[in-house]
Amino acid sequence: MDFSLSPELAELQQRVRKFIREKIVPLEGDSRQTHHGPTEEFRRELVALAAAEGLVAPHVGTEYGGMGLNHVAKAIVFEEAGYSLLGPVALHIFAPDEGNMHLLEQVASHEQKERWLRPLAAGLTRSCFCMTEPAPGAGSDPAAMNTTAVKDGNHYVINGTKWFITGAYGAAFAIIMAKDEDGHATMFLADMDTPGIEIERAMDSLDTAFAGGHAVVKFNNVRIPASDILGEPGKGFRYAQVRLAPARLTHCMRWLGAAIRAHEIATGYALKREVFGHKLIEHEGVGFQLADNEMDIRMSRLSIWHTASILDNGGRGTVESSMSKVFCSEAIWRVVDRCVQVLGGQGVTSETLVARIFTEVRGFRIYDGPSEVHRWSIAQRIARNGANW
Ligand SMILES: Cc1cc2nc3c(=O)[nH]c(=O)nc-3n(C[C@H](O)[C@H](O)[C@H](O)COP(=O)(O)OP(=O)(O)OC[C@H]3O[C@@H](n4cnc5c(N)ncnc54)[C@H](O)[C@@H]3O)c2cc1C
Repeated sequence: MDFSLSPELAELQQRVRKFIREKIVPLEGDSRQTHHGPTEEFRRELVALAAAEGLVAPHVGTEYGGMGLNHVAKAIVFEEAGYSLLGPVALHIFAPDEGNMHLLEQVASHEQKERWLRPLAAGLTRSCFCMTEPAPGAGSDPAAMNTTAVKDGNHYVINGTKWFITGAYGAAFAIIMAKDEDGHATMFLADMDTPGIEIERAMDSLDTAFAGGHAVVKFNNVRIPASDILGEPGKGFRYAQVRLAPARLTHCMRWLGAAIRAHEIATGYALKREVFGHKLIEHEGVGFQLADNEMDIRMSRLSIWHTASILDNGGRGTVESSMSKVFCSEAIWRVVDRCVQVLGGQGVTSETLVARIFTEVRGFRIYDGPSEVHRWSIAQRIARNGANW
């Protein structure tokens, strides 16, 4: 095992670090950051800054303007970008666009790539991914999907309601999952201005970093040509896995960067602030919290790198990405929660960025599979195969 970075990757890491700290961090107070993410104008400015450095969508192939980074390289770059909550927006590697680009690259036809992937990869457009539904529909259990796709000549007619759809406001197009008459799930591509697609309302949530926020989206007799099926009909659940295993991992990468930022802020405070005649860091109760932070950060990074290398070596990484997702989402939460505590009263105010990071990372234990669902599926595997080491 060799954990050292190639000279090229180390150089890229430094480039991204410098870019984020010098060009993006100073913009964090911009008033165009709203409760539902940066405004489109602000987002475009951020992307333009990254474009000037050649850093937009570095994960996509060079033929679409990216660098074709492999998963391990993404781990390095995305962690650096996550240091600022605006970093993933600038590099255009935030959810759901980053995962959608990956899926389109893997599955879409040439025509679909030219129409939807090319402008998306350039940061000119945004997209959304429509899977989750209000009860009793798809959520933790995607098989409960109620959105229907009924064949009508050369078209499919989609009906249903989706919610928690990140980025729906302002998205150029959607990837929609719906079930056909035989109960098989299919993915469809549709421009958001297709008749019958209606954004019913925004959903306020704890997080505020995602461009376009989260929304309830209705599909009322939406007619989609069969040529706009993504991949093959009936393979929607399989493609969801193609998207999800790496997409879970990239959340880990970005939020790890945010946790590191919180840890740096809390550490800076603990090194300066004196209470009861000693620096905070000299009080064991504080020092141990920061030591636990460093262990959680290191173990998260190792878990990400390990799963990334499995994906790079052609493995599906389904189990490993599940484990990384649970471990990282919980470890990152612990880190940021400890940072709040170490900062005292300031920890829950906007005096530092930590309170903001705290609200951003909570949802990560829920989306892309709640911790309990991943534990349940790992336990099912143990029930089938026994201990497997
Ligand atoms: C910020 C955010 C952004 C999101 N973005 C998108 C998006 O862009 N597109 C999209 O399609 N969806 C999106 N989602 C939806 C997300 O993927 C779902 O919320 C998630 O899959 C859980 O589904 P649910 O909310 O229906 O919870 P439910 O399915 O109702 O589950 C509720 C809780 O039950 C527990 N539970 C469920 N199953 C088990 C089990 N087997 N064993 C033990 N406990 C269990 C878990 O604790 C779970 O949190 C987003 C969600 C959030 C919070």
